Amino acid sequence: MHATDLRMVPSNRTYIADNELDYLVEAVRGHSTCGDGPFTRRATALVKQITGAGQALLTTSCTHALEMSAILLDLRPGDEVIMPSFTFMSTANAFALRGAVPVFVDCRPDTLNLDERQLEAAITERTRAVVVVHYAGVACAMDTIGELANRHGLAVIEDNAHGLGGRYRDRLLGSFGCMATQSFHETKNVQCGEGGALLLNDGALAERAEIIREKGTDRSRFYRGQVDKYRWVDIGSSYLPSDVLAAQLTAQLEAFDTIQVRRHAVWDRYHEELADWAAGNGVAQPTVPDDCAHPAHLYYLLMPDLAHRQAFIAHLAERGVRAVFHYQPLHSSPAGVQHGRTAPGGCPVTEEAADRLVRLPLFAGLDEADVTQVIAAVRAYEVS
Ligand SMILES: *Cc1c(COP(=O)(O)O)cnc(C)c1O
Repeated sequence: MHATDLRMVPSNRTYIADNELDYLVEAVRGHSTCGDGPFTRRATALVKQITGAGQALLTTSCTHALEMSAILLDLRPGDEVIMPSFTFMSTANAFALRGAVPVFVDCRPDTLNLDERQLEAAITERTRAVVVVHYAGVACAMDTIGELANRHGLAVIEDNAHGLGGRYRDRLLGSFGCMATQSFHETKNVQCGEGGALLLNDGALAERAEIIREKGTDRSRFYRGQVDKYRWVDIGSSYLPSDVLAAQLTAQLEAFDTIQVRRHAVWDRYHEELADWAAGNGVAQPTVPDDCAHPAHLYYLLMPDLAHRQAFIAHLAERGVRAVFHYQPLHSSPAGVQHGRTAPGGCPVTEEAADRLVRLPLFAGLDEADVTQVIAAVRAYEVS
């Protein structure tokens, strides 16, 4: 049989929530499609409810929410922002755009999160902030990181693109930093194609955040009747999504519990039914520390090395399963070298993880038979 004859299990497929199409029609028929309309208010209320954030602002992406956070920190050229090398480029880009220097720290070999033991050595007198990424929605060691940040007077920002609904010691992810960012990109648990949110846990940031998001104007205060005209008062950009996207997002957020039950069912089957195969083949499964509750964002395996990872992806494709690798290290990427700096000790764990990691299909619409097919395909691979 040729690979083209197979029905491929995709690596991701969007879930269509019950009210999604109705809300989209309603938004379009309402003749008001710009940002901050009725669906934006509904989606924002749901984001606040799910994350427990004091304040939330919908944005056009997580990337843009990160850019807003960098503006809100008033970073100056040469200021340093510590972050993991093992993350999406937007984590670094947002700060590099302000002229700040991303300082890349290696990740822990178990959770692949920023290694808190290496944080202090990366701090200098120029350090202003630490950006954490809860990889796969498994929390970073927020107690240690928070304590170090406090001691050195650093802001903590959570890039919580993976972590919606996740918890650390029973506290919701997104509530630890002065700010946190969410992504509603197509590949995330809840999505509207392109979208995001900025969560604000420090009330003092709220007013300026609203202005930055509205092209640097006090338009939001004008609409609330607090000023009689709106003017250009600060730097900013256009970070608010159309209400049509907010309509789609509202339906998705309303279906969050359903989506999560389905994703967890897939994650749990992979974890259980691949355990003996992984142990017998020198393959590592994800580590979830006891004090972390993850939101089933990714299911990944760490193959013994790059050659096996590539052979494994090809093996799965021949069996109708699309599996994909993930982040390439930022510290050694062309822009990372140009704009950033690597913390003492380098990032050897990141380099190894980037080579070894493979993600299995994981989405809410993956049915039992698909999961069975994926598991059988994985188990047919032998590390020799
Ligand atoms: C997806 C992702 C982003 C970017 O999200 P967008 O909404 O596409 O801008 C940023 N950081 C991490 C960790 C991500 O996974």
